[in-house]
Amino acid sequence: MTDIPQILLNNGQTIPQFGFGVFLVKPEDTQAAVTHALQAGYRHIDTAQMYGNEAEVGAAISRSGLSRGEIFVTTKLDNGAHRPGDARAAFDQSLKALGSDYVDLFLIHWPLPTRYDGDFVSTWNTLEEFYRDGRARSIGVSNFQPHHLRRLHGETDIIPAVNQIEVHPYLTQDEVRAFCTEHQVAVEAWSPLGHGSILGDPVVQSVAKRAGKTPAQVVLRWHIQRGDIVFPKSVTPERIRENIDVFDFELSAADIEDLSALNKNERGGPDPDKF
Ligand code: NDP
Repeated sequence: MTDIPQILLNNGQTIPQFGFGVFLVKPEDTQAAVTHALQAGYRHIDTAQMYGNEAEVGAAISRSGLSRGEIFVTTKLDNGAHRPGDARAAFDQSLKALGSDYVDLFLIHWPLPTRYDGDFVSTWNTLEEFYRDGRARSIGVSNFQPHHLRRLHGETDIIPAVNQIEVHPYLTQDEVRAFCTEHQVAVEAWSPLGHGSILGDPVVQSVAKRAGKTPAQVVLRWHIQRGDIVFPKSVTPERIRENIDVFDFELSAADIEDLSALNKNERGGPDPDKF
């Protein structure tokens, strides 16, 4: 079984550095995809209320033969449920759907600066309740820019354990990552394969050729060696196995530099300051 590195979070909990994402996996395909992933050795699943597939993730886990404690599960607050009462009800619903009395990590999915009068602080205070009562082992944020994080640092008690942001070779996010490192917030890189768009890049292809690995494997390895947490998505069993097979080789410093030099600050997803 693949030995996946564990990252120590700022609250003493650990998270597997490598996992499986289920964004845009249809509910009817989710149980099979997560089952393939667990069989291939994945022990960390990243879902969200918005993905509409928490119940299927929960079903795959409960039928896996693994104990709940062996699997790290993340879910995220729906954008329509930021008000404290709504957030509490939505969190209860997530636990019910996942069939568990806790989640390993619960995130604010987007800061939504143009909604709720820009008040993501009271939303964070509600997540702090879930952390204090033990139903969320860790809490964090997603798509937060340094100025959003600074506000939480100034106005709340608990520092987010992670910030989940879009990162791949076309969007290296040096500024947000440096801010997170300085403040002990672990970085999770969403769309680590640029949603597939970067795999045909000639530089990615030539690094893959040199390493004797596939383009997806060298890009995932680039993330791992930079220290970020990743959870590539695939519904294709061969790719699910291919993607986790990244712990038996190392990229050279020159390979890492070549991939990092592809940065063009190009987002595949929305801008967190406008969305
Ligand atoms: P990824 O970068 O993981 O890319 C997924 C795409 O790449 C799919 O089309 C998949 O196809 C394809 N693919 C996967 N593996 C390979 C491979 N080895 N070779 C060729 N193609 C491959 O994109 P996601 O946007 O899904 O990001 C991953 C996860 O990040 C999400 O599932 C979600 O958990 C999280 N996320 C979080 C967001 C946030 O706002 N917090 C936003 C977006 C994502 P196929 O499935 O057909 O095999």
